[in-house]
Order: sequence, then structure tokens, then C-alpha cells
Amino acid sequence: MSYQVVLLPGDGIGPEVTNAAVQVMKTAAEVFNVALEFNEQLIGGCSYEKYQVPLTDETLQACYDSDAVFLGAVGGPKWESLPHQLKPEAALLKLRKALGLFTNIRPAKVYDALIDSSTMKKEVLHGTDFIVLRELTGGIYFGEPRGFDNERGWNTMEYSREEVERIGRMAFKMARERRRKVTSVDKANVLEVSQFWRNTIHEVHKEFTDVELNDMYVDNAAMQIVRNPKQFDVVLTSNLFGDILSDIAGMITGSLGMLPSASIGSKYSLYEPVHGSAPDIAGQGSANPLAAISSVALMFNYTFGIQKAADVIEKAIELALAKGLRTQDILSEGCKLVSTQEMTNAVIENINEIYHNQALGVFSL
Ligand code: NAD
Repeated sequence: MSYQVVLLPGDGIGPEVTNAAVQVMKTAAEVFNVALEFNEQLIGGCSYEKYQVPLTDETLQACYDSDAVFLGAVGGPKWESLPHQLKPEAALLKLRKALGLFTNIRPAKVYDALIDSSTMKKEVLHGTDFIVLRELTGGIYFGEPRGFDNERGWNTMEYSREEVERIGRMAFKMARERRRKVTSVDKANVLEVSQFWRNTIHEVHKEFTDVELNDMYVDNAAMQIVRNPKQFDVVLTSNLFGDILSDIAGMITGSLGMLPSASIGSKYSLYEPVHGSAPDIAGQGSANPLAAISSVALMFNYTFGIQKAADVIEKAIELALAKGLRTQDILSEGCKLVSTQEMTNAVIENINEIYHNQALGVFSL
């Protein structure tokens, strides 16, 4: 198979972690016999510098012509005082909307080697592995009417049947590839829109009776993620609740430099690390590339449909950490400090080693 991948390195450490991601994409593509063609475009502050807009029609068109988009990060102090629509971050919102990326996936997986760097207890965290599936293009962030005057402010939380059904189907399909459990999070005891969400998800569930479905109120879900995160497999929720829960879920697992994400629509998909452009460390070669590399694993799984490649990349990350290699953001006593490139080299070596050992029957995933 051959795929077109658009690369949007962006600003700050964006190009550094994208470079790492591309090296891993090339390695995995070779190992799993996939042909990748790359098309690099500008986005964010660097696009503003050249074209006076953070997202050009050319970049957007390249994304429309792609099978997958990989984004590094955008933004920086240089562009903070620009009007809202010219800010680098505005390009991200416009791109997600234009590509119809209605699902945001944020895995919350705890690596054993990093378990001690979490603020939470080891025994609570051990074995945690779930994903938060957040509806990304509807709900209160987009609902009309919206506004404020001197006396009041207002927003509208609204979901159509189509919007809830499509994200519901996505959640059940993903659960089928995992441990077959969906927890749908809402506030149906207070909000009519949540009652509608709950009813609709239960209707969709009739098409997926092999998957277990539980409902949970959002306040309880926030508590449960911290109390007993192992109980979750796929957490399905709306835009606002997902915004908050995905950050809680992400942070129980440790550093920002470790968190990948995927945003998927009916036609397009975009992969990016959760972190920003980290201007404080840009250009030093010290950024943690693992969030970007883990986003590549999601790309191989969700766009190329090669779950095995995703498993190998994830295992390669685990092995690098198990060998004690650490970038500065996750450094702990007794571990070896490595650069962005050294960490990337280690992951690439591990991918080749795992694949080779699998071929010999020495290693199984
Ligand atoms: P940030 O994520 O860039 O950085 C927060 C802290 O985490 C910094 O100390 C940084 O050095 C560290 N960090 C982040 N990623 C790291 C990595 N891979 N390796 C090691 N350390 C890492 O958040 P911020 O400082 O609030 O924002 C900086 C800029 O990025 C702003 O302009 C913001 O708007 C933008 N931003 C962009 C995105 C995106 O492109 N998706 C997301 C968030 C923030």
C-alpha cells in the first residue's frame, strides 16, 4: 500500500519532534512494507512569517489530498500579540474543522518504567491502559447562540443525532479492537442534551451488543479516573467534558512529553503530540520525541490499519525507557540523559530488534 503523509512541523520544538517522528515512520514503513510519500508544508507562526496567515490554502489543499497529516506544534511568544485569527493556534482550530475531525483520541497508558514519576500511587496506576474519545467538532464550543453583554453571558450545548451516532459508532468499533468496554460519560441527571446523548448512544449500542456499555456522570468519571483508572477501556464523551477528562487522564501517566493524540473524521486524520511548541527548550535538541513517536503508532493503527506496527512502535518505546534512557523532562535518578536524536535512535534500533526477534520467534507481542 502507498500513503500520502502531509508533514506540518510548525514552530518551536515542532520541527525537532516531527523529524524524530518521520525517522520512525520510515523505519516502520520499511519493516511493515508500506510505501509513504511525504509532503511538507508550513503551519502556525512560520507560515505567518512567510505568508502573513497561519494556514494557507496550499497547506489546506495538501491536507485534503492526504491520507494522514502529522503535526508537530505551533505557537510562540513572537506571535502572542497578533489578532486572534492570525495567531498560530487559530490555524489548528481551522484545520480540525476543515478536515471534519470529529473524534479526538487521547490514550492514557502508563509505562512501567515511568510509574515512579507519576504523582499517583504505583499500585493504582499499574496496568492502566485506556483511551478517551472526545467529540471534537460539536457541543458547547460551537453551539449558537453564544455571546455576552454587560449583564450576562451565554453559550449553547447542542448535539444532533448524526453527531452522536457517528462518534458512538467510532467508540464501539475501537472498543472491539481493545477490551470491548465503552464508558459513556455525560451529565444526564441535569442536562437535557446529555439525556439525548445517553439515549442515542444506547440506540447505537444495539448494533454492537458484543461490547459492554456503561454510563457514568462526568463528576464521577473525573473521580474514578484518579481513584481506579484500570476500570476503563474506552471513555466516550462530548467536547467540553472530553477536554477536561483527557487532560486528567493524560497527566496521571506522567509527562507532557509522553502524550500522543489522533483526531479522526470520516475522510481525514491528523496525528500530533499533545504538548505545545515549548519555546523554552526549542533548538536545544533536548525535546522528548516520544509523544510524537507514539502518535506515529496511532497513525499506523488508525489510518494504515496495521495494528501490529503500532504495537511494535509502542514496545520499542517501552524498551528504550526500560533501558533507562530519559530525555530531561522525564529524567530520574540512575537513568541516562539522552538527546532527542539519541532517544529516536534507540526507538528505531528497538523496532528493528523486535521485528527481527519476532521473525526468529524469540519475541512475541
Ligand atoms: P508547552 O506544551 O509548549 O510547554 C509546557 C512545558 O512542557 C514547557 O516547560 C516545555 O519545555 C515542556 N515540554 C513540552 N513538550 C515537551 C517535550 N516534548 N519535551 C520536553 N519538554 C516538553 O506549553 P506552553 O508553554 O503553554 O505553550 C507554548 C506554546 O505552544 C504557546 O504558544 C501555546 O499556545 C502553544 N501550544 C501549541 C499546541 C499545539 O500546537 N497543539 C498545544 C499547546 C500549546
